[in-house]
Amino acid sequence: MKRLVVIGAGYAGSCVARMFRDQFDVLVLEGDSMPGGLCKSYYRDGLVYEYGPHILANHNCSEEAIAFLRSHVDTVDTKVTSASFVRDRTTWYPVHRRNAALLGLEAEVEAELRGLPAAPRMDNFETYLVDRVGRTLYEIYFADFTRKFWGVDPASLSADWARTRHLGESLDAEEMFFNRSWCAYPRGDWNDLFRNLLKETRVIYDAAVARVLPEERCVVLRSGPRIEYDLLLSTASIDFLFDHRLGKLTYRGYEIEPRVVDRPAWATFNGKPVSMTYYPEANVPYTRITDYGSFQRKEECPTYRGRTIVTVETPSASSELYPSTDRESLQLFDRYVRLASGYPEIVTFGRKGLYKYLTTDTATEMALRLRDHLFPWEALSSEARYAAYQEIRGSWNN
Ligand SMILES: Cc1cc2nc3c(=O)[nH]c(=O)nc-3n(C[C@H](O)[C@H](O)[C@H](O)COP(=O)(O)OP(=O)(O)OC[C@H]3O[C@@H](n4cnc5c(N)ncnc54)[C@H](O)[C@@H]3O)c2cc1C
Repeated sequence: MKRLVVIGAGYAGSCVARMFRDQFDVLVLEGDSMPGGLCKSYYRDGLVYEYGPHILANHNCSEEAIAFLRSHVDTVDTKVTSASFVRDRTTWYPVHRRNAALLGLEAEVEAELRGLPAAPRMDNFETYLVDRVGRTLYEIYFADFTRKFWGVDPASLSADWARTRHLGESLDAEEMFFNRSWCAYPRGDWNDLFRNLLKETRVIYDAAVARVLPEERCVVLRSGPRIEYDLLLSTASIDFLFDHRLGKLTYRGYEIEPRVVDRPAWATFNGKPVSMTYYPEANVPYTRITDYGSFQRKEECPTYRGRTIVTVETPSASSELYPSTDRESLQLFDRYVRLASGYPEIVTFGRKGLYKYLTTDTATEMALRLRDHLFPWEALSSEARYAAYQEIRGSWNN
């Protein structure tokens, strides 16, 4: 059996290790001391939280992908609700036309909405959203938030990013998009998912890969040993994989500060516990506070006997969570994919390997597309591999 070495035991690496364990002799190398990547559950004072909101949901994927996920973790159905704090008051989020009335802006916002084009301009993030919600709501809810989070002018981001995140679709929606389909939290915690995915797979922890040597078909661990492969599937950054030789890809993210708190006054809005409160205004340093007690294990929530755990999320340029979606970054990424396509024994995959915002459902969907292309990966021409990567990665909207 051929040896498949997988770099990374985050969701993408664990998912493919599970999917391909019958076709390959699989070995996973994980730099951390436990699996999960960004999907780990952590504990503080007995309360569980993740690194950002973590719910299992069906955003945009097939029943097959959801069935795969559900067969590896027991879940409790839940709902997430969100709100936005602007001008000293809690308002609906995603942005709703009711907010105009709450903010005393009904006449001007309604006039703007009547003048919107039938189809939004796809030039960039700003044109798309102005055409979806009007200039006034755009400025209040999206413009400063985007500058604060991304550190760039919103016009430099792609319209597809707004569309992928379902921004601006909610003026008349009764439900947040998450809640329109399946939405759940693990009955235990997220770590269970990784225990199940990897239970019959060899994984070496604390095994950070320092270098990949494609000519010798081996990786070199930071601690020294070399490990040989027949096929390498890397979920590390694609620029790392190639020694950053074309330049460094950029990301955006936030620092996350967990706090155990008494159930705060802002935790309900319109009679519902609020899971995520967004702070779009420029003078507030953070962008979001997430109350985990509002969506985990419903029977005990939202208060955990009067207490809950929240994370305060403050934008940071050094936190590599979200791939940048400006044209320059996507072009650099494209050059890396072309480079990767020339290596028949390497597959780059996952959030950083294919430089794409993923959730567990869309990562599963991506793994299913990889499965359709992997056999025989080595026999494909470089051009065919490049085309396969495009299909595997999918549009921003997958
Ligand atoms: C802020 C945020 C919130 C999110 N919320 C949700 C949510 O609510 N629901 C949801 O389903 N998904 C959510 N996601 C997505 C999810 O966390 C994962 O990003 C996604 O499933 C893809 O995971 P991945 O394995 O590609 O990447 P990662 O989770 O980053 O895993 C990569 C793994 O590779 C390892 N690694 C990297 N380099 C090396 C190396 N050189 N050597 C060895 N190991 C290495 C890392 O240690 C890590 O374990 C969220 C993501 C972010 C950023």
